[in-house]
Amino acid sequence: MLDIQNLSVAYRGNLALDSVSLALGAGEWVGLIGPNGAGKSTLIKAVLGLLSYQGQVLWKGKPISRQRQKIAYVPQRSQIDWDFPVTPWSVVKMALVRRLGWGRLSNSKLDWILKDALERMDLVPLRHCPINELSGGQQQRVFLARAIAQQADLFLLDEPFNGIDRQTESMMISFFQELKTSGKTILVCSHEWGNALKRYDRLLLLNRRLLANDTPQVVMTLDNIQQAYGAGFSAL
Ligand code: ADP
Ligand code: MG
Repeated sequence: MLDIQNLSVAYRGNLALDSVSLALGAGEWVGLIGPNGAGKSTLIKAVLGLLSYQGQVLWKGKPISRQRQKIAYVPQRSQIDWDFPVTPWSVVKMALVRRLGWGRLSNSKLDWILKDALERMDLVPLRHCPINELSGGQQQRVFLARAIAQQADLFLLDEPFNGIDRQTESMMISFFQELKTSGKTILVCSHEWGNALKRYDRLLLLNRRLLANDTPQVVMTLDNIQQAYGAGFSAL
């Protein structure tokens, strides 16, 4: 489904990604892992077309640049300007309107889809709260509700498990299972190394270059972790 070929990105001449090639299939839940600064967010932003790159990014064999509507993006929460005056309701509504266009649906139908997405993330009572008054987990669920409303085929999530509560974590995991079952493709970034990584179908170990691309069992070796995170790292 997603096919990345020789992707390189440089910031002012410094290579953040060096000729990375990988492919993701339908119904796959893949972890993109590596230390801080490895280039994980950069890879996601390149796929989204938020920065210029060398190489190719294809979705179903065609350049992804014209198919961005198919991608749901959940940004790293620390990179968001939370002072922006929006509510869960308005965030999800914007995504819906972008997908469907103004006037294509009656207001009541639009509200129904909106409410359904918010309900699935347990956000209905909070739908009119300013987003900067929500907890980290609740904010995360707003972006998941937006992704649901968007009806995307590819889900890119940047460090979604950082600083969230148990409820949000378990909601996210069952959401990913559901997406997998319906044949969606899910890529989740994480800088943490630990047992939680065993949940993924496959792990991509990144540190500027792609160091490993295999099942968690194969990727999670001491050799790999030390190659990516440094020789001092031994917590397997
Ligand atoms: P990760 O998400 O894995 O922590 P990033 O993709 O954010 O890594 O960053 C990869 C490298 O690129 C880092 O060395 C980072 O400092 C650098 N970098 C990221 N964004 C920028 C930017 N806008 N300008 C310059 N350098 C950047
Ligand atoms: Mg990052």
